[in-house]
Amino acid sequence: MTYSATKTYIALGSNIEPSLNIPRCLQLLREIPHSAVTVESSWYRTSPWGFSEQADFINLVVGLATALSARALLSATQDIERRLARSRGRENGPRTIDLDILLFGSTILDTDDLTIPHPGLLLRDFMLIPLIEIAPETTYPGQHRPVRDLTEHIRYRQILEKYPSGSL
Ligand code: AMP
Repeated sequence: MTYSATKTYIALGSNIEPSLNIPRCLQLLREIPHSAVTVESSWYRTSPWGFSEQADFINLVVGLATALSARALLSATQDIERRLARSRGRENGPRTIDLDILLFGSTILDTDDLTIPHPGLLLRDFMLIPLIEIAPETTYPGQHRPVRDLTEHIRYRQILEKYPSGSL
C-alpha cells in the first residue's frame, strides 16, 4: 500500500457454521476498500457466555491496515455482519458473525456507537490472547505497556482449544 494506513485489530466470532462463515468473513474483510488484511491469528474454540445452550464459538483476531476512519471502518464491519446474517434468511436469528474493532492505532474514542479500545479487550481471553499472538508489542492506548504484559486484567477465561488458521 502506498497510502498512509492505521494499524487496526478486529475480533471475529461465530458459532453458526464457523468453518464456512469465518472464511467468508475473512474474504469480505479483504475486500474493504483502502485496506489490507496483514495478519490473522490462529482459531480459538471458546465456550459461549450468556446462553450456555448454544454451540461453542470460534474466535480469532486479524490485523488490518486501513486508510479509512474508525467510523467508516465500523460501517464496513457492520455491513459485513449484515451480509453474512442475511445469507441465512433469518433477520432476528442467531448471528453468524460478530465483528468487534479492538484497537484503531493509538485512538481512544468513547461515543454512543463506537468505543475504542473495545471495552472487552483486556477482560476476555478470546480477544486479548489472539491479539497477543499476532501483535504482542502493540501498545494499549493510554497505558504505556505492550498488550503482552496486560494479561493480568483477564476476567473471562473461555478459550478451550487453539487450531491452526482454517484447519477446522
Ligand atoms: P455487539 O453486537 O454486542 O458486538 O454490539 C454491537 C454494537 O456495539 C454496535 O451497535 C456498535 O455501534 C457498538 N460498538 C461500540 N464499540 C464498538 C467496537 N469497538 N467495535 C464494534 N462495535 C462497537
